[in-house]
Amino acid sequence: MRGYLVAGNWKMNGYGAVNTKLTRSILEGWGAGATQVRLLICPPYPYLRELGQLLEGSSVALGAQNLSQHASGAYTGEVSAAMLKDVGCEFVIVGHSERRAMMGETSAVVADKFAAALGAGLRPILCVGETLAEREAKQTETVIDEQLSAVLKRTGVDAFSTAVIAYEPVWAIGTGRTASPQQAQDVHLHIRGRLKAHSSRIAERMQILYGGSVKGDNAGGLFAEPDIDGGLIGGASLKADDFLAIAAAAASSD
Ligand code: PEP
Repeated sequence: MRGYLVAGNWKMNGYGAVNTKLTRSILEGWGAGATQVRLLICPPYPYLRELGQLLEGSSVALGAQNLSQHASGAYTGEVSAAMLKDVGCEFVIVGHSERRAMMGETSAVVADKFAAALGAGLRPILCVGETLAEREAKQTETVIDEQLSAVLKRTGVDAFSTAVIAYEPVWAIGTGRTASPQQAQDVHLHIRGRLKAHSSRIAERMQILYGGSVKGDNAGGLFAEPDIDGGLIGGASLKADDFLAIAAAAASSD
């Protein structure tokens, strides 16, 4: 049983008091949690340690939104995997489409970041997904294969045993337009199939999250699909009630 992971990507939002309140509200609302569902929050770097302390002993995990592919040195403004581990992170998002598009992160860089995360004992959440133009050109699978293969080639399939994959169609991120459960399921099945070609064991155990305008009212339909194991949530992770409604949808799909 893979269980569900509901992960909040806060992006560059919030500040001290707001983040503390949001975290406390999630903790209170989620309580002891639900079997087979884990929650995760990924706040901006400066708040990680403090919010991580609030999460201690709870069923809500801590993650970062990005990391450097380098271990240490003259990389002004960058943050290493070991530093994230040191402040209490368990997860780190790697290769989010905003970073691929706006910061020019290539699949090779993403693969290096994935390897760096694993090297420090973090669990990477590898984001893959196509643009609208690529979907319309029927390139979805080709794009995803390229994004996955770059990491598989760099680390080998065994490295995926602690990783999570997030399918995030770029056209559905922050647009209010979500993939239908069937569209998402088709791609998730494809991703699992690609992993299966390397290792059935890892493919079967891999949590594959869907991301792209997931809300409380569409989460249930998505999570009911056999290959959708949770969500990577942007906008709706910034309000405790919205995030908890998605978590509740996962718990009732349990
Ligand atoms: C995201 O940025 O990973 C995301 C899925 O955002 P949203 O939920 O706002 O579409």
